[in-house]
Amino acid sequence: MKQKEILLSIPPKNLNGQTLKIDHSNDHCDCHDEDDFGDAHLLTSLDTPLREDAFAISDEDKIAKITEHFKEIMNILGLDLQDDSLKGTPKRVAKMYVKEIFSGLNPANKPAVTLFDNKYRYNEMLVEKDITFHSCCEHHFVPIYGKVHVAYVSSGQVIGLSKINRIVQYFAKRPQVQERMTVQIGNELKKALKTDSVAVIVDAFHMCVSTRGVQDVNSSTITSFYSGIFEEENKRNELLQYLSLSAGKG
Ligand SMILES: [Zn+2]
Repeated sequence: MKQKEILLSIPPKNLNGQTLKIDHSNDHCDCHDEDDFGDAHLLTSLDTPLREDAFAISDEDKIAKITEHFKEIMNILGLDLQDDSLKGTPKRVAKMYVKEIFSGLNPANKPAVTLFDNKYRYNEMLVEKDITFHSCCEHHFVPIYGKVHVAYVSSGQVIGLSKINRIVQYFAKRPQVQERMTVQIGNELKKALKTDSVAVIVDAFHMCVSTRGVQDVNSSTITSFYSGIFEEENKRNELLQYLSLSAGKG
C-alpha cells in the first residue's frame, strides 16, 4: 500500500491489556460530541466492551431479534419490505452479523491452538505477512479492511501458520477500533505461543474515512505492537526489511 500513512504507535505501557483511559480534562479532547468521538476514532478499553450477559441468549434468538430490529430500521428509512429484493434483507443481515462478521465476539469461536516442539531449532524471527482481514469500525459500523503482518520468535514451541491467520480473523470479526485489534492480536499471540517476542503491524483502510466525513480515499492507517525482542531497534528494522520484500523474491 503506497498511500499516505497516518502512523499510530501504542506506548509500551499499554501493551499488557491495561485499560486505556481517555483524559476528558484535556482542552483538546474532542469527544464531547458523538460525531467527533467517532471521527477521532477514540477507544476506551483494550478489551472489547461487552456486557456480562452478552451470550445469555442463543445465536438463533439473536438472529430473530436483530431481524425484527433491522426490519424496523429499513421501515423507518421508508423502504418497501414487500419488495422481493428487500424482504429477505433483515434476516440476511442478522445472520451475517451473528454468524459471520461479528462471530469473533463470542469466546466459543476462539480458535484452539496446538503447540508443536520447535524441532528445527529455528531461533530467528518468523514473519507472516499480508494476512488479509475484514473488520468493522465500531463507531460507524462500516468496513475496515487491509493487511496484518505478524512476527514472532519461538520460545521453543511453534504453532501451525494457519492458526496465526485464524487468530487474526477471530479478532477482526467484531466491531473494532484498529488500535485495539492490533493489541488484542499481539497479546493473544504472546499467550498462544508462550513467547514475549511478538510483533503485529496492521495497515488498513477505513470506509468511514473514505466514504463519509472527510472522504479521503487514499489514506491508510498503520498501527503496531512490539513486544520482547521487537522492542530492540535492530530487530524492528530487520522485520521492516522483510516486510518490504515481495513474496518469492527474498
Ligand atoms: Zn469509523
